[in-house]
Amino acid sequence: MHIGIFADIEGSFGIWRMRQCRMGTPEWQYGRYCLTEDVNHVIQGAFDGGADTVTVKDTHELGFNCLPRKLDKRARYVGGHYTTPSLFGKISDYDLVLYVAIHAASGTENAFFPHTHYGIFSEIKVNNTPACEMDIYAAYLGEFDIPVGFVSGEDIAVRQALDALPWAKSVVVDKRRDAYTNGEKSIRYLAEGRKQLRQTTARAVKDASQMKPLIINGPIVFEAEFRSKKLATRFNTWHFHQTENLVTWEAKNMIEGFEMLNKLTFIPKKVYPFRRPLAFAIRNFFRIKTAYFAPDPNSEDAALP
Ligand SMILES: [Zn+2]
Repeated sequence: MHIGIFADIEGSFGIWRMRQCRMGTPEWQYGRYCLTEDVNHVIQGAFDGGADTVTVKDTHELGFNCLPRKLDKRARYVGGHYTTPSLFGKISDYDLVLYVAIHAASGTENAFFPHTHYGIFSEIKVNNTPACEMDIYAAYLGEFDIPVGFVSGEDIAVRQALDALPWAKSVVVDKRRDAYTNGEKSIRYLAEGRKQLRQTTARAVKDASQMKPLIINGPIVFEAEFRSKKLATRFNTWHFHQTENLVTWEAKNMIEGFEMLNKLTFIPKKVYPFRRPLAFAIRNFFRIKTAYFAPDPNSEDAALP
C-alpha cells in the first residue's frame, strides 16, 4: 500500500502565528522544524498501519517546507509544484492520502490564516457552496480514485474538512500562542499531540478500505471571489467570465476545474507555453535556496523539547 502524506503547514503543532508559515523568515525556519516533526510522526503512523511505501508531498507556498534532511529516511520526499501529470506531480499510484496541517477556508471568522488555495481569494465557491481546500483537493484526488483518510489542523479547519470527508480520521491542533510557550506543559502537549498523529494515522491506514474517494458529479461551477477587482483583472489573463471581483467558470469534472483554477492562480496565459521548463527551474532554484541558504531559526518563545 502506497500512502501519500500531503503537508500544508498552518495546522502544525507548535505553530501559532502567520510569520511561522511565511517562506524565508527565521520564524518559518522554526515552522519547518514543527511541520517536519508532525510529518515524521505521520510517516511512522503510516508504516505502523501497514504502508509499504510512503511519499511526502510538500504543498504550502512553493512546496519546500519540510526539512528533508530531518525527515524519516524511509519516506520519499517530493518538494515543489509540477505542471504534469498534476500540480502535485505523479499521484496516480497512491492508495490513500493523509493531509497534515491544514487550515480553514477563506472568510472563516476567528480562524488561523484562513484561505482557500491562495491568499488572493476572499472566497471560492464550488456549486454555490463555500469551499475549503479539502472540498477541492480531495475531490481532485477522488477522480484519480484516491481517498483522503486523515486531516490534522485547527478545530474549525478539521470540521470543515470532515463535512466533505465524513469517513476521515482527524487530530485537532491548538493554534493559541499559550499552548506552545508554556515550558514543560507545552512540551507535554506537543508530545501528546504528535503521539495522536501517529496513532490516528495508523488507524486511518489500517481502515484504508473504508475510506472513499470524494466525487463531485459534473458539471462543476466555480466562483472565485478575489479580494479586489484589480486583483481579479490582473490574474484573469485567461478571460474567464468576470463580473467585478468575481471570476466564474464551469468544468466537466474536478480535474478540469482544478486545472482552470491553477491557470487562473499561477499560470498567466503568456507564460503557459513555458510552464514546464519554468516549473522545473523554480523547483530547483527553491530546492537549493531552502536547503542551503535558509536563515537560522527563530523559535521566539516556543518551548522546545
Ligand atoms: Zn498552506
